Amino acid sequence: MGSCQPFDPRIDPVTPASTLSAASSSRRPIRELPDELVSQIAAGEVVERPASVVRELVDNALDAGATQVTVRLLAGGVRLISVEDDGQGIPREELAIALRRHATSKIASLQDLEAVGTMGFRGEALAAINSIADMSLLSRTADGAGDAHAWQLDGRSGELTPAARTRGTTVEVRELFYATPARRKFLKTDATELAHCIEAVRRHALVRPDVGFAIWHEGKLVEQWRACAGETAHEQRLADVLGSELLGQSIAVDYSAGSVRVTGRAGIPDAARSRADQQFAYVNGRYVRDKVLTHAARSAYEDVLHGHRQPVYALYVTVDPTRVDVNVHPTKIEVRFRDSREVHQAVRHAVENALAAPRAAAALAAANGASTETFEPNRPPALSSWAQPAINFGANQPWRQNPQVSDFEAMWPQPASDLPSVAPVRPEATPESYAARPPEMQNDLPPGDWPLGRAVAQLQGIYILAENSQGLVIVDMHAAHERIVYERLKTQMDNASIASQPLLIPATFAATPQEVAASEAHVDTLKALGLEITPFSPRTLAVRAVPTSLAQGDAVELARSVLAELAQHDASTVIQRAQNELLSTMACHGAVRANRKLTIDEMNGLLRQMEATERSDQCNHGRPTWRQVTIRELDNLFLRGR
Ligand code: ADP
Ligand code: MG
Repeated sequence: MGSCQPFDPRIDPVTPASTLSAASSSRRPIRELPDELVSQIAAGEVVERPASVVRELVDNALDAGATQVTVRLLAGGVRLISVEDDGQGIPREELAIALRRHATSKIASLQDLEAVGTMGFRGEALAAINSIADMSLLSRTADGAGDAHAWQLDGRSGELTPAARTRGTTVEVRELFYATPARRKFLKTDATELAHCIEAVRRHALVRPDVGFAIWHEGKLVEQWRACAGETAHEQRLADVLGSELLGQSIAVDYSAGSVRVTGRAGIPDAARSRADQQFAYVNGRYVRDKVLTHAARSAYEDVLHGHRQPVYALYVTVDPTRVDVNVHPTKIEVRFRDSREVHQAVRHAVENALAAPRAAAALAAANGASTETFEPNRPPALSSWAQPAINFGANQPWRQNPQVSDFEAMWPQPASDLPSVAPVRPEATPESYAARPPEMQNDLPPGDWPLGRAVAQLQGIYILAENSQGLVIVDMHAAHERIVYERLKTQMDNASIASQPLLIPATFAATPQEVAASEAHVDTLKALGLEITPFSPRTLAVRAVPTSLAQGDAVELARSVLAELAQHDASTVIQRAQNELLSTMACHGAVRANRKLTIDEMNGLLRQMEATERSDQCNHGRPTWRQVTIRELDNLFLRGR
């Protein structure tokens, strides 16, 4: 060890703080800094607070192949951090080397660095921590075979003594920042520091379900996550760490594109929070805070999340290690991708795909599966009369030949070519497929048990009430229809341009000069949007054609809102970016208005379209389009069965 004395600024000749005035008057010779000071400088980058130490020590335990990691803390980690593992241990003769700067067993060459697979590789952490705290290493390599017993190294004195323990390593760090009191002043309350320490372990736990973790504070067990095995290990761990509701409120992600694979879970929009405190992103097993990943995930929620709500997710990105540089930040919390576009797209698509499928069917299947034993007496009668085998459904377009659905469509007429925009997400859930299967095989959904049920009534001109096997479904008619129209417009826009329909009698309106100017400046964009707006007189515009799917809406209102948005943009690139916003505005104006009376058939048509439309669980503004009220909840309301 270079120095055994704690660093003391008063006796150190090169410390600038105490000699600033001298520095300005006379030049001092260039000297190499003492080892201890170099470590303390490094510690400034690596160790911000107790949680940073916890992170580094758990990193080391995992790199050593531990299957159980126990963290013990006193006073939020300021007085003591002890991390105990059952990993491969450190041989006696290497214990002192482990504390030196730039001493590591993990890489030996630049090639190793470029493909590094361990958490650590800089060989800095132990040296840095040792320079700002009292530290000891207790380690034993192999049970029985190798060393006959364990050895303990005192980081300050360098003294090595025989000790007792089974295979593995315990690192103890006491009185953090004792030598750098300025740093100690920045620490928050013990409770806050403890919370940060727990968060540090949680980040490891979420990516290593195969390892058990325990955290003790002041002698009390505060968190424990047992090792999980098997295919569901990851989900089990996510549920243990983030709460069991998470699984029901999130969707599995598994997506590959090129050399990038993205797995994990994406929270449904309903699970979003006011704070971004449950967003976990990993690259090759390492927790990272990375702008590319955060932005990609966020943009995947753009279309379904309300306002400033923060999505919940745990995403694990795997890329070829040579395509990501992990050596860009002292704490390795940031990475640099060689092709960040590739990663951005993969993450965005992974989450978008997961979120796109309507969730009513899955929710119902799960609920039915869960409720049959526990809730038999109150189950509503089977809705077998609903799906008549005689009705011949197109496998991919369940609404197409459904008389109920086409009644609904008739309200917003459109050519047949307009239809495929609604992608069926669960083709197996069409009535045709129920009819084709013998009843005993229909174990996921009973015949005719539509996920969103069959309509029974309309409430106050706003809500559709429907009945499914779980109970009551309430649908916000306008919100749901708005999403259906929006998704259709987006698909049409992607394919070419929006199907347009001329108005028999052009709708004229008194226009502002801005509106007139926008109509002239954006003729092509308007055309692509399915709108034809021409000057009628210097102060009057005429709407001559509107998108087919919006033909029943108020043409003037539609035209004015689109012109208002276009007036804000001039370059066509901006319009490209604002396209979804524009389409969303159009959908809002074209969607069925509150107080419009619907027949039962029209309502059923809307429900079936929702089941087949991507992202239909949220309206364009991120609000939910439907809610389930179960029979059990209704029973509770009426105190039944108590
Ligand atoms: P790095 O992790 O970057 O190699 P560290 O300073 O964190 O640097 O650790 C130095 C070395 O000490 C490691 O390379 C490893 O060989 C050894 N080491 C540290 N902690 C442990 C542990 N818990 N079990 C086994 N070896 C360890
Ligand atoms: Mg390390």
